[in-house]
Amino acid sequence: MDEKGHVDPEAEYFAREDREKKAALAAKIDAENAAKAKAERKALHAGACGKCGGSLKPQDFRGVEIDVCEDCGSVLLDPGELQTLAGNDQSGVIGSLASFFSFRR
Ligand SMILES: [Zn+2]
Repeated sequence: MDEKGHVDPEAEYFAREDREKKAALAAKIDAENAAKAKAERKALHAGACGKCGGSLKPQDFRGVEIDVCEDCGSVLLDPGELQTLAGNDQSGVIGSLASFFSFRR
């Protein structure tokens, strides 16, 4: 806009284009940073207890390999393991847990 209040359509077009390019670049950088942070978190916590950071030891329970923390005793089930343990019986405690905590991505 000049001193008389006139808007230069060409200047406005380039200004808008510039804003859109900057916004797209910022969104790309945000997405890259989020992916990098997720990868770092995963590398740091892989194989560690989510509660105390202790070592997880796999133990077989009814054919399902369950991770148990050697330090605090927490039990970690991989996606689908609760359902596997419940089997066809949805009426028991395990079946109820499996349906209550069913994990969807
Ligand atoms: Zn633990």
